[in-house]
Amino acid sequence: MRFDILTLFPNMFASPLRESILGKAIEKGLIQIQTINIRDFTLDKHQVVDDPPYGGGQGMVMKVEPIARAVESVKSQNPSAWTIYLTPQGKPFNQDLARRLSTQPHFILLCGRYEGVDERVRDLFIDEEISIGDYVLTGGELAAMVLIDAVSRFIPGVLGSDRSAEEDSFFNSLLEYPQYTRPFDFRGSCVPEVLLSGNHSAISLWRRKEALRRTSLRRPDLLGKANLTEEDKKLLEEILQQNRREKAGNGI
Ligand code: SAM
Repeated sequence: MRFDILTLFPNMFASPLRESILGKAIEKGLIQIQTINIRDFTLDKHQVVDDPPYGGGQGMVMKVEPIARAVESVKSQNPSAWTIYLTPQGKPFNQDLARRLSTQPHFILLCGRYEGVDERVRDLFIDEEISIGDYVLTGGELAAMVLIDAVSRFIPGVLGSDRSAEEDSFFNSLLEYPQYTRPFDFRGSCVPEVLLSGNHSAISLWRRKEALRRTSLRRPDLLGKANLTEEDKKLLEEILQQNRREKAGNGI
């Protein structure tokens, strides 16, 4: 998978995407990341990339021409590269969208700055607009990094041969079960015995129940979307009864 990132701040990407799992994925050739400085596509002496908005108002707007040339430079190599503009006005990014995007081989990620881009960039060059959350960042660079990280985890081999993104939170709309490692006893707080039992079906059942419990407590909105088996529904009923008993016991 290839990502061509159009940005005014290419140095921001130097370290974060080259460490740890993504760094290894780049070394293995599973992903390729190239930053392209939009300023290099200006034609004037001062390399101007922004201008005040027509109609007046605060701030500056990114000009259409340098962005158009930058997009076209990538498209001249691959006309079908999927072009995404990171913007707070876009489709909310989530695990399902990350999984769907992971089937695309080549992305152009446009990072805005200032008040954003001239509307004609959106009309003429953008295939999809994506937001990483309902808040406003100073630029699209961090949003592009979030997208690259989450999408890359779905590429076979990126997480290692024995690990799959399908085991993480949000797979089938459930949060992940609690995880423990050594020591068994930390200041009197012990690991649940079942995890040391060596009984794989008991461990799987415990994990499923804890995933359901955690989701019902923290993100009940997700349960409506989850594909629950009859056994899950029974477990969930047990959990809800237990929660009700605990609330009653606490006088809530
Ligand atoms: N004036 C714009 C608006 O109200 O929609 C916000 C511009 S913001 C200060 C500058 C750039 O940051 C945007 O063009 C976009 O690329 C990026 N950005 C800000 N918040 C974002 C978010 N939640 N998700 C993705 N990109 C974001």
